[in-house]
Order: sequence, then C-alpha cells, then structure tokens
Amino acid sequence: MGTAQGNNLPRIKISNQAAIRRMVYHYGPITRGALSENLGLTMPTITTNINSMITGDIIREVGFAEEGGALGRRVRLLDIVPESRYFLGVEMRGTLRSLCVTDYRGNIVWSKLDDTPFHEYEENIASTAEIVREAIGQCGVPLEKVMGLGVCLPGLVDSSRGVLVKHPGYGWADRDVAGDLRRLSGYAGPILVENNACARAFAAQLFRRELLNQVPSFAYMFVSAGIACPLIYNFVQDYGVLVGRGEAGHMVLDPSGPECICGNHGCLEAYSSDRTVIARCEEAMHLGEAPILREICGGRTPTISQIVEAQERGETGIAHVIRTAINSLGVVIANIENFAWPDLILIEAGLFTSQENRESLLEVVHRNLYTGTNLDTHFEFIMPDPFSGALGGAAIAVRNDLETYIE
Ligand SMILES: [Zn+2]
Repeated sequence: MGTAQGNNLPRIKISNQAAIRRMVYHYGPITRGALSENLGLTMPTITTNINSMITGDIIREVGFAEEGGALGRRVRLLDIVPESRYFLGVEMRGTLRSLCVTDYRGNIVWSKLDDTPFHEYEENIASTAEIVREAIGQCGVPLEKVMGLGVCLPGLVDSSRGVLVKHPGYGWADRDVAGDLRRLSGYAGPILVENNACARAFAAQLFRRELLNQVPSFAYMFVSAGIACPLIYNFVQDYGVLVGRGEAGHMVLDPSGPECICGNHGCLEAYSSDRTVIARCEEAMHLGEAPILREICGGRTPTISQIVEAQERGETGIAHVIRTAINSLGVVIANIENFAWPDLILIEAGLFTSQENRESLLEVVHRNLYTGTNLDTHFEFIMPDPFSGALGGAAIAVRNDLETYIE
C-alpha cells in the first residue's frame, strides 16, 4: 500500500469506497473482516465506509457468520440492498427493441418488448427513445433512484465514447448512440453503450452468480444474426475484466469458403449465424426440400425456433444446414477452449433449445479439444430470452455505478 499524500487523498477516498462496494456486491454476504483482508484496508477505513453506506441504505447487515477460533465468535454479514438503486437496460436490434428496469441485483421490475422491425438507424433509435420515455413514466420507480441507462446493440462498439463504430449487418456506422438517446429520450443520467454479446456476459457475471459460482474465467458464446464470444476474467480485487471482446463470428474457418457479411470468406458466421441458417433453410424451402418447414412458417422467412420445430418433426431437407452450423460452431468453441482455457463457456443460441442439437454440439467440441483440457471444462447452455440483451444493458449500467463515488 502506498502512503496517502495530501493531494491524492480524495482519490484514495473515492477508490476505497468503490472497492469496498464492489467487493460487497460481488462477494456479499461478507464480513467486515473479510473485506479488510481481501482489500488490504484497515478496519477503521472499512468501518467508516460501511457505516456511511449503511446510513445511505446501499449496504445492510444481513445476519451472522461464525468467525473461526476457539471462541467461535459470531460476526455480522453485509450485503448490498437490491432496492437501493435501479437501472434501465435496453437492447437495440433491427428485429426488436427490448427494455427492462431492474434493481441493483438485476431483478426485473418492469419490461417492454417491441418487435416491429426497424432496420434504419434513425427509426430504431427513435423507437428505442420512445420506450425509454415510457419506462421512466410508467415503471413506478422514482427517477432519482434510476442510476443509469445501459444500451447494447450488435456490432463493433466503442464503449468509452458510447459510439457504434460499425454494424455490417445493418449498414450502421459511426453512430453516437449515447448522444442520440440522450437527446431523443431526455434521460439525463449516465448512458453506457456496449456490444450486445459483451453486455450479456456482464449480465451473467453480475446477476447469475449461482450459475457462475465465482469461476475465475468464462466465455460467452452468443449466436444470433451474428456471432460473438467475449471472454471475462474474475480477479478477486478486479472482478469482471473483459479480456477479449471475442469477434469469434469472423474467425476464418476456410479462406475459400462462402462469402461472409464482413467481406471475407469462410468466417464462422457464414456457416453458423442465425442469418446464415435461416437463409439456407429458406433456400431449401423454396427448392421444395422442406415441406414441413413451409407448413410451419406459411412460406414466409422462418425463424430459428420454427426451424428447430421442423427439425424435431423430422424435416430431412434442412438437416445438412443444421449439421454444418453445429459442426463449425463446435470447432470454434473447441478452439476457444484450447486457446484461452476459460473455466466455463456459456452458450446462448436458438438452435440449442433442442436437446439433440446440444448433444451434437458437445460431441463436436469434445472431439476437437486438445487432450486433457476437457476434464476441466464446463459448458452451460443459456436458453434464449427476449430480455437477455436488455438485462445486459442493465448490467453495464450497474458496472458503471459500482465505479462511481456516492456522496
Ligand atoms: Zn466475417
């Protein structure tokens, strides 16, 4: 520990408070002693900060823990107060906009989904802003308790500036998402912008502690129209560090393969993204090779869930499309595991609502793992949920709040 100098005392005060609150958030219920030990801060520093956060109703005492030693002394446990702060989370996609209002722990208290497709940025952001205004007016949470708005969207995002750099799928580029949303919605609090796969990974890390069980590292393979697989490390004092943004969708599997939306050839997305799977199944349908699918979707562009339904009803004409998608994805997941060796890989993709597809994927993954790594590896499937992205938005707003000093 460095020595506190007069001119940097406020910064130390700020960083101590944020560090204590983050540790209570990530590891609570936790004792004052454990906070002191893990953070290397003195008990008086812990006590002063905790007292002020208890007074501010951000942290509370939640029962007792047995402390070691012959006397078996009982000490108070501390945890975050979930209803002390609320957050708005939004996902903007061409096909839908979803919003949720959550408490500090990610419990959803209000939500709204609009699935009108808006592929033009201006229409999409205007509709998103409208939903934000509606949420603020109707969610029942006082505005002064809403501590931030997190927006996530597909594509390459510069989260430090709140800007969407590029989305090849929609043709959106250089869009000041945070600025536009502030102007259109009138929301004056912090606005954070992140890629929608990274945001989902943060939601898992913050809000699904039972699933992650405080693993030191995990990757989040998210398959939708595109594909991404961000990688997160959980260090004790610096929880939730994004070490790889994971543009796995553009890993090249075969340079002489089919053209990808990015302009390269043989990227994973050209085999396994929902966009590709849907286009190939629609092609099979128009060639008369997929009568069951045609009946299910009425001859219109099918959705992934309709494709899975057709598959489960024995549609053979689309089997090769699904097999190719699963094989390519399985190879990439194995490569990610071989390369980065995360403790857990979460997989969210519409194709894996089917048990058969989950088993096929894991079979391909295990076949391609470097010998020995598979024993330490765990794979978990996350069922697609229209609000998982909005929850990711709320998570990035919570992350921002955990860095902020509270007077
Ligand atoms: Zn590509």
